[in-house]
Amino acid sequence: MAQTSTINLMISCKQATELLDKKAVLKLSGRENLALKLHVAICEACKRYKKQTQFLENILKLNFKNSNPDQVPQHTNEELKGKIFEYLKKNQ
Ligand SMILES: [Zn+2]
Repeated sequence: MAQTSTINLMISCKQATELLDKKAVLKLSGRENLALKLHVAICEACKRYKKQTQFLENILKLNFKNSNPDQVPQHTNEELKGKIFEYLKKNQ
């Protein structure tokens, strides 16, 4: 068996929200996406959180619709991340 198959896909709510935050500005790996999907499928709280971040993701996509997300400079990502966290704090 490949070693990667032993990586735990059951993540905590904290890890799930971290991945959702990350997903809003960066691409997740296949494993991260899978772990996130599994968690959101069984967790109501994170399902709600996901809806919030998806809303933000859409806003970000509109802002960057003419550019490849991979080409967004890192400092812009950090700036946007800050904005997202501010937004989420206000809306919790
Ligand atoms: Zn959760």
